[in-house]
Amino acid sequence: MLKLYNTFSKNVENFDPISKDGFVRIYSCGMTVQDTPHIGHIRALITVDILRRVLKLSEYSLFSVYNFTDIDDKLITKMGESHIDYRIISQRNIDEFFEVFNNLNILPFDVYPRATGHIEEIIELISKLLEKGFAYKSGDDIYFSVSKFKEYGKLSGKRLDDLIEGKRVEVNQNKENPLDFVLWKGARDNEPYWYSPFGKGRPGWHIECSAMSMKYLGESFDIHAGGKDLIFPHHENEIAQSECATGKPFAKYWIHNGMVNLKGEKMSKSLGNVFKAKELLKLYGPNVLRFFLYKTHYRKDIEFSKERVEEAKTAFKRLVPYISENFEEDNIEVDIYKDFKNALEDDLNTPEALGIIFETVNMINKKEKEENLLKNTLCRMYKDLGFIFVKKEKDDLTEQLVEVLLKIRESMKKEKNYQMADLIREELKKRKIVINDLKDGVTWKIED
Ligand SMILES: [Zn+2]
Repeated sequence: MLKLYNTFSKNVENFDPISKDGFVRIYSCGMTVQDTPHIGHIRALITVDILRRVLKLSEYSLFSVYNFTDIDDKLITKMGESHIDYRIISQRNIDEFFEVFNNLNILPFDVYPRATGHIEEIIELISKLLEKGFAYKSGDDIYFSVSKFKEYGKLSGKRLDDLIEGKRVEVNQNKENPLDFVLWKGARDNEPYWYSPFGKGRPGWHIECSAMSMKYLGESFDIHAGGKDLIFPHHENEIAQSECATGKPFAKYWIHNGMVNLKGEKMSKSLGNVFKAKELLKLYGPNVLRFFLYKTHYRKDIEFSKERVEEAKTAFKRLVPYISENFEEDNIEVDIYKDFKNALEDDLNTPEALGIIFETVNMINKKEKEENLLKNTLCRMYKDLGFIFVKKEKDDLTEQLVEVLLKIRESMKKEKNYQMADLIREELKKRKIVINDLKDGVTWKIED
């Protein structure tokens, strides 16, 4: 039974999808594409990736959506600074996103909608909110009136009165209530705009996600995912607009991943491009990055540092010698695999799943059970977690060289040149290659 933590109830709940057709409908809040993806985007992607992999393990079919916010204030600022059209900026960053996405081995989504491709749906949704009295026009802008939605704050647990008293909200004379948020921004000079029944302008950020998610997933759907920094106000506002427009509950489960903190690294001068997804992939590769993120439960924040990724790299290396693409997927150690699946179904407990993987490696080394069965299990778990099977050219070469050295050693022993034979053994041992002399021959393994 799959259990997931729902930000909405603040509890781990048994997963029970809305529709009984076997399909789980998921919306993942995607990138605003004024810039290239960074480590924070990788974390959000890996979270929604493991979520969908586990749903598949639990035998659900999926329909999932990942959106791009390709018009917003940040893009317009970028356009002003660079004198490059916002469409060119966003397309370049989307291209890089897909490069990173494919490199990381993220399960494909079914649709990748862009805000600028859904202006019609957005206008329709705003019109509905105006008609029902949940929105108002002020100057050239349209605002959502938060006080009209009695349940405002139900996701984040924030209360309207506290928010206003806290004066953390900007003062805007156009707004009836300082917490009201913009649905449609009237066109400003030198800014891109679209025509609408309420004048020339462009959509606000929050309304884009409501329009795109409901278009592809229906008015009520199963899972809405994103970083926890989006809970307030973005997701809170999505709920308000969507539920006021449809009168139906919006998303049933809200899954939020923790942040990636760069505190330590920010102190150093070499910040530069090091947190860019493309750069990180070049330095560490997709498997080490995935492994690094899996070591922490998805809901916790991660302190990012090069040292910590290097540590993950060293730990991951222990696995590599046992992994092969050619394994028998169904000839596995059932009990181990069951524990592994249970860990993942317990709110995506990847640290525990990794623990089971390393226990299996230890069992192989201790020859506790049939080696082939354990190796198959290991490869199956590795595959389930979305790691990539890499061509082991270097390992093949290592294997060949060790075999050559062992042949030389055998002939040394026959000539009673034990000193030389021991030298080979010792030199290999220094390189973590351990020789085991048996009655009927020699075996070797790479030590942990
Ligand atoms: Zn969103």
